[in-house]
Amino acid sequence: MVICNKQHRLIESLALVPTDSSGMSQNKCPGCAYESGYRSGLQMDVSLNLPFQNLPNCQHATTQSKDIFAAFAQGYFDGVNDFHQQKTA
Ligand SMILES: [Zn+2]
Ligand SMILES: [Zn+2]
Repeated sequence: MVICNKQHRLIESLALVPTDSSGMSQNKCPGCAYESGYRSGLQMDVSLNLPFQNLPNCQHATTQSKDIFAAFAQGYFDGVNDFHQQKTA
């Protein structure tokens, strides 16, 4: 079983992401889900794919048990936002 050992600096970004009350996130890393969504947003991907099977398990006390689906969506949203900021900067 793969465990995430990345130093995600995403605490603020994940602040609005709800806690996973369904258990569907299966303790996978919301930080990695966020980053995956963010990359897609920055590229304005028209087809989204949450790499559920490839997400490592989470050992970060601060983001553990966050909903990875919402984290992915938040990442996508932030990525699209940053895409526009780059355009207008
Ligand atoms: Zn991670
Ligand atoms: Zn994690």
